[in-house]
Amino acid sequence: MTSQRHQHYIAGDWVEPADGAYFASINPTTGQPWYEAARGSQADVDRAVDAARAAFESPSWRDLSQTARGRLLRRLGDLIGEHSEELARTETLDNGKLLREMRAQLAALPEYFYYYAGYADKIEGSVVPAANRAILNYTQREPLGVVGAITPWNSPLLLTSTKIAPALAAGNTVVIKPSEHTSASLLELAPLFEQAGFPPGVVNVVTGYGVEAGTPLAEHPGVDKVTFTGSTGTGARIAEQCGSRIVPVTLELGGKSPNIVFDDADTGSAAMGIVAGVFAAAGQTCIAGSRVFLQRGVYDEVLEKVRERAASIVIGDPLEPTTELGPVAFADQLSKIEDYVALGRQEGGKVLHGGHRPDLDLPGYFYTPTIFTGTDNAMRICQEEIFGPVVTVMPFDAEDDVVKLANDTGYGLAAGVWTRDLARAHRMASRLDAGTVWVNTYRAMSPMSPRSGFKQSGLGVEHGTEVLREYTRLKSVWINTSDEPAADPFVLKS
Ligand code: NAD
Repeated sequence: MTSQRHQHYIAGDWVEPADGAYFASINPTTGQPWYEAARGSQADVDRAVDAARAAFESPSWRDLSQTARGRLLRRLGDLIGEHSEELARTETLDNGKLLREMRAQLAALPEYFYYYAGYADKIEGSVVPAANRAILNYTQREPLGVVGAITPWNSPLLLTSTKIAPALAAGNTVVIKPSEHTSASLLELAPLFEQAGFPPGVVNVVTGYGVEAGTPLAEHPGVDKVTFTGSTGTGARIAEQCGSRIVPVTLELGGKSPNIVFDDADTGSAAMGIVAGVFAAAGQTCIAGSRVFLQRGVYDEVLEKVRERAASIVIGDPLEPTTELGPVAFADQLSKIEDYVALGRQEGGKVLHGGHRPDLDLPGYFYTPTIFTGTDNAMRICQEEIFGPVVTVMPFDAEDDVVKLANDTGYGLAAGVWTRDLARAHRMASRLDAGTVWVNTYRAMSPMSPRSGFKQSGLGVEHGTEVLREYTRLKSVWINTSDEPAADPFVLKS
């Protein structure tokens, strides 16, 4: 970002916040503010929703052919590819994730737009068999209208793209409210939409705090659908707001995912999968494998491998290529992690590694990778999402036992299984209550593969083809093709 102050992006223009207020965004590596973003309020959201409605109804978008819509998405993908280095850097400065990781994420981002570009002209209806041969009954899928997208800070552009790429492919317009911790990359991306050829107002960005700018968007009578990624608590409130207006909502929420290692697993790979699952991105991923279950026969061996690797993780500036663990995203997040570690100790857990801030020259929000043993799955530290580099490791004896333990959580986002037994792999995949199950891998994802959260981890789906249903409505059309005059409805045929 070049300038220090950033306005909302509405109808293709930079727009001063209605009440002139801004807020600072902090670089978590330095603990210092590095830009200001507009502090959105109801009036700004009204303006953005009006712009999105006008764009939705404008012939320049409404009458654009589906193929042309796809072309715009492809062009946008190309532009993101050209700007991926700057965007990745911005995200690292905003949320502290490794530049290496953000580079990889941004390099893959165009694929999301290419994937849904291909669908833009393949959203089809069908002809429904009718008992009366004179009736032609067909269905068509229509865009919903204005979509409100509310997104978190941990992978800002990726988690926004999984919403807006299918929403736009289906012909909707959008208003996005990014996390107050990471407004910058979306503001950098916004002008690329017009550069790609999208009419002004098709994509709008209102920045600000959750209650001040997110709530007005979720409650807005002009918003036809809300799509949200964030914590389960906020998701529940947004679902209530949508429920009271009877508008559809997609929710991608929190997790407390199990990562399970059986005696027959490749223990080295399993240990790396555990480390990647919970210490990558400083544990700030919804899919973090934060509850590890090790079968008794490999418990000591895998635990020692995980401890050894955790102890060698290089903590530091996320811009440095040698760094393996950056800071967590903001001060409250660090306090939350510290509180949970204290709670885990109080509950009787033992810290095998970590459990404190590292000794670094950097003033930011760093925390050491932390391994708890001696925990019980019923403890709060095993049940509540910490969203930091903290893992609990527990032993188990039999497959049935671990299925029970793994599923004994309010969440159901993801699960990992490490085994060489093919039959067991399939059994576990079907018995685990999780929207995604990985076997002998962890954290894999692709725009082509559906992602959904079971239980309190979400509602609806993202990625893959199913998501197009979430951004369209289904209409059934009945055409009478007969020239026969309509019968008198009160005269019964004999
Ligand atoms: P959060 O719920 O605090 O905030 C998410 C977004 O909602 C932000 O833009 C915030 O400003 C807004 N918001 C907050 N309160 C609001 C309100 N009352 N009304 C409307 N909007 C409001 O979540 P977070 O801390 O930004 O993100 C971390 C959470 O996101 C974790 O729980 C994580 O598991 C979850 N997450 C889930 C997925 C997934 O795909 N399932 C992916 C990433 C993150």
